[in-house]
Amino acid sequence: MGWALALFRLKNGISKGSERDSSCWRRCSCHYSRPLSVCSLQKEAIPVRKLMGKEDECLLTSFDCVHLQGMRFMFTNGIHTPSPLQVNLAFVEAADCVSEPVNREPPSREAQILTLKNTTEFDVLVIGGGATGSGCALDAVTRGLKTALVERDDFSSGTSSRSTKLIHGGVRYLQKAIMKLDIEQYRMVKEALHERANLLEIAPHLSAPLPIMLPIYKWWQLPYYWVGIKLYDLVAGSNCLKSSYVLSKSRALEHFPMLQKDKLVGAIVYYDGQHNDARMNLAIALTAARYGAATANYMEVVSLLKKTDPQTGKERVSGARCKDVLTGQEFDVRAKCVINATGPFTDTVRRMDDKDATAICQPSAGVHIVMPGYYSPESMGLLDPATSDGRVIFFLPWQKMTIAGTTDTPTDVTNHPIPSEEDINFILNEVRNYLSSDVEVRRGDVLAAWSGIRPLVTDPKSADTQSISRNHVVDISESGLITIAGGKWTTYRSMAEDTINAAVKAHNLNAGPSRTVGLFLQGGKDWSPTLYIRLVQDYGLESEVAQHLAATYGDKAFEVAKMASVTGKRWPIVGVRLVSEFPYIEAEVKYGIKEYACTAVDMISRRTRLAFLNVQAAEEALPRIVELMGRELNWNDSKKEEELETARKFLYYEMGYKSRSEQLTDRSEISLLPSDIDRYKKRFHKFDADQKGFITIVDVQRVLESINVQMDENTLHEILNEVDLNKNGQVELNEFLQLMSAIQKGRVSGSRLAILMKTAEENLDRRVPIPVDRSCGGL
Ligand SMILES: Cc1cc2nc3c(=O)[nH]c(=O)nc-3n(C[C@H](O)[C@H](O)[C@H](O)COP(=O)(O)OP(=O)(O)OC[C@H]3O[C@@H](n4cnc5c(N)ncnc54)[C@H](O)[C@@H]3O)c2cc1C
Repeated sequence: MGWALALFRLKNGISKGSERDSSCWRRCSCHYSRPLSVCSLQKEAIPVRKLMGKEDECLLTSFDCVHLQGMRFMFTNGIHTPSPLQVNLAFVEAADCVSEPVNREPPSREAQILTLKNTTEFDVLVIGGGATGSGCALDAVTRGLKTALVERDDFSSGTSSRSTKLIHGGVRYLQKAIMKLDIEQYRMVKEALHERANLLEIAPHLSAPLPIMLPIYKWWQLPYYWVGIKLYDLVAGSNCLKSSYVLSKSRALEHFPMLQKDKLVGAIVYYDGQHNDARMNLAIALTAARYGAATANYMEVVSLLKKTDPQTGKERVSGARCKDVLTGQEFDVRAKCVINATGPFTDTVRRMDDKDATAICQPSAGVHIVMPGYYSPESMGLLDPATSDGRVIFFLPWQKMTIAGTTDTPTDVTNHPIPSEEDINFILNEVRNYLSSDVEVRRGDVLAAWSGIRPLVTDPKSADTQSISRNHVVDISESGLITIAGGKWTTYRSMAEDTINAAVKAHNLNAGPSRTVGLFLQGGKDWSPTLYIRLVQDYGLESEVAQHLAATYGDKAFEVAKMASVTGKRWPIVGVRLVSEFPYIEAEVKYGIKEYACTAVDMISRRTRLAFLNVQAAEEALPRIVELMGRELNWNDSKKEEELETARKFLYYEMGYKSRSEQLTDRSEISLLPSDIDRYKKRFHKFDADQKGFITIVDVQRVLESINVQMDENTLHEILNEVDLNKNGQVELNEFLQLMSAIQKGRVSGSRLAILMKTAEENLDRRVPIPVDRSCGGL
C-alpha cells in the first residue's frame, strides 16, 4: 500500500504511549470501527512525512506513532497543545510504513519442502526454529531477501518454549549495571525494555503486562529496592508499561494473601511483560511463512555445503545438507548466507563449519514447576531477587496456573532436558519459605515440570574468553557462517536485526533496513480485548473457551471457531473440550495441523500448552488428540500407537511425570507378592480416598475422626515423617509399599504408621452400613 490519508478523531484521554490496558482501549475512538492501539516507538525508525495540524491538536506529545489496522501513523512532535490532556481533533497525513503481510495462508509443509528443494539459491538459510532463528527469518524475508528456515524438531521445541515466559528488561541486570558502572549491561537493559514494548505491541493477543511483587523483609531494603525499581521505570522511559509503587504490609497481603506474614515489612510492585512463549515463537515463524519464507520443521541440517570462492580461493559456506526427519529423505539447500541460530547447539553447527572451532556456548539449565493457580493471585507475580543463599526465586501466574522456579545450574547440552526430583524439591522448599503456613505446599501439587537450557555465550573475538556475555554475540566465521547466540527471548527481534545486518554486509546482499519494529505478528493485527465476545455471540462458544482462543490465535480465532464441532448441548453450541478442566477444544487439533504440527507432542506441548500446565490432563487428552490427528494425517494404527508411546515418554521424562510417578511405581526396593501389593494398595486408598497417589496428615486425620480416634497433630506429623523418605510432607504409595516390604523382610521391626493404618482399616471394615430407612434418605 502506498501513502494513505487518514482522518482521526482522537477523543479525550488517550493515555500515555505504551499503556494497553483495557480501559485505554475503551477510552479510544476513531472513525475506524476497531479500537486504536497506541505505542511509542523510535521516531527514527521511519521518516515522518508531512503532517497537517488543524483545529485543536491533541496529546500526541505522549507518543510518537499510532498503529491502526496494520498501518503505522507517524506524528511530528510539533502539534501538542499547551495542555496535552485537552485533546480534541487532529488531521494527519498518515504513512503506510509497513507493508501488509503477503496475503496468503502459510503453505503446507509439503509445499514448503518443495520450495526448499527447488530453489536454486536462497539469499539466507537460517538453521534453528527457536525464537532467534524464527526472528532472523522474519527479519530477512521482510527486507525482501529470499529466505529459508529449517528446524530439526518442532518450532520452539528447544529453550524457547521452556522459558519463564517473562518479557523483561532484567531488573537484576540493571542493578548490576549500576553497582558495577557497567555501561554494556545498562545498554542491554535499555534495549530489552524497548523490545519489551515492541513485543507487547506486535502480538497483543499473546502477551500482557504483569505486575510483579518484590516482598520486603528488612526496612533497609525498602529505599534500596525502591530506587532500583524507579530507575527501571526511568530507563524504560516512554516504554514503561506502568509505574511501580510501594505497598504497606497490609496492602501487600491484600494483594497476595498466601504470602508469609512474619517479618514482612511491605512490598514494591513493578511491571514487566508476560507471554505464551511457544505460541509467540510459532507466530513469528508463521508470519515469516506468510511473507514468503520457506519454513520447515522436522528438517535437520546434517552438514554444511561449501564451495571455493573464485576470487580468494577460500572455501565458503554455500548451503546445508538437510534431512527430513519424518521421512529420512536428504537433499541440499543452497544459500548465499547461512545463519546458525541453534541455541544450545551453537557449537555443534559451528564445528560442522570448522571442526576445530573453540566452544563459545556454556549451557546452563533452569527448572520450572507448575502448581495450581491458588498458589499465587491471578494477576500478580512474586519475585525475590536475592534469597538468603543468593538465588532468585519467583512464582508467577500463567494460564491460570502458577509457575515457580529459580536460577540456573551448569549442564550438558541435550535435546531432551529432564527436570530432576532434586530440582523439583528444591523449588518446593523455596516456595514454602514464602507462603503462609496455612498453605500446605505439597509434592502432589506439582502438575508439570520442565528444564530449559540457556545458551550463554562467550564472544570468540573477545580477549577475555572466560567472560560469559548476558548479551548476544554475532560471529562471522572465516568461511562466512554467521552465528547468532546468547541474548534472551525478549530481545529476539533486535538480535535478528543485528544478525541480518551482519549478513547483508558480509555477503553483499541486496536488502533494505530492518522492518520488524511495529510489524504485527500473525493474529495480532485485528485482535482486540473484546474480540472473544464476538466469538461467543457469533459461534456459540463458551466464554472461557472464546477467551482462550482469542488469547492464543488473536484475529485467527475465528478460523478455529469455524472448525469447532457441535456439542449437541443447549450451550455451548460448539466447542468440544479436549479435557474438562482446560479450555482447549478439539478444533485446535485440526487447526494445529495447519500450523505445521506433525506429532502428538507438538500438539500437547506447543500448539496447546497442556503438557506444560498439567501432565496428567495432557496424558488423558492424548488418545483423542492422536485419533483426531490420525484422521487428518492418515495415520494407521501402528503410527497412532507409536505417537501415543512417544508422547507418553515425553510427558514421563521431560515434563516431570516420571519424578511424579516414580515414587508410586518404582519397585526397586519392593519385593512383595502381587496379592500383598493389592491388599496394601486397598489399605492405602482407604486413606487416599480421592486417589491422588499420596496421603497427607489431613487424610489420616479424616480417617481417624471417622473411627472416633483422637491423636494430637504433632504425633501424627512424627508418624508420617518416619515413612516420608523424600521428606516432601506426604506419603506416596511407593513409600508405603517400601515400608510394608521392609516390614515383611524384617528390615523394619515395626512402624507406627503401618499399625495405625491396619487398625484403621479393620475398624472401617467393621462399620455396618446404615440402612436407608434409618438415614432418613430416599423417596
Ligand atoms: C530456564 C530458562 C528461562 C528463561 N526465561 C526467560 C524469560 O523469562 N525471558 C527471556 O527473555 N528469556 C528467557 N530465557 C532465555 C530464552 O528462553 C532463550 O534465550 C531463547 O529461548 C533462546 O532461543 P534460541 O532460538 O536461541 O534457542 P532455542 O529455542 O533452543 O532454538 C534453537 C533451535 O535450533 C534447533 N536446532 C539445533 N540443531 C539443529 C540442526 N542441526 N538443524 C536444524 N535445527 C537445529 C533446535 O531444535 C532448537 O529448536 C530463559 C532461558 C531458560 C533456560
